[in-house]
Amino acid sequence: MRTRVEILRGPEKPDLTLEPFLRSAEEARLIRLLQSIPAIRKFAVVFDRRGCLCCHSREFPHAGLSLCTKCRRQFYYEVKKAERDIAKGEV
Ligand SMILES: [Zn+2]
Repeated sequence: MRTRVEILRGPEKPDLTLEPFLRSAEEARLIRLLQSIPAIRKFAVVFDRRGCLCCHSREFPHAGLSLCTKCRRQFYYEVKKAERDIAKGEV
């Protein structure tokens, strides 16, 4: 297994701009280890500047991915439902 330094200096450094995106807590933790502080804070800053990416409100707090708690929960539900529909062959 490569170390964090080897991954960051390697020629095939992955683009983590939109990460962590709907990852498990453990996956998100590992991805954050590879990211700079600005890269880690980017979603919160976008939320502060524009409000929630989905509803554009600041009524609810930031929950990650530039989404408020309400929209992130709804988006997660919709993604999981899409996965179930695909698995059933309905899509
Ligand atoms: Zn929202």
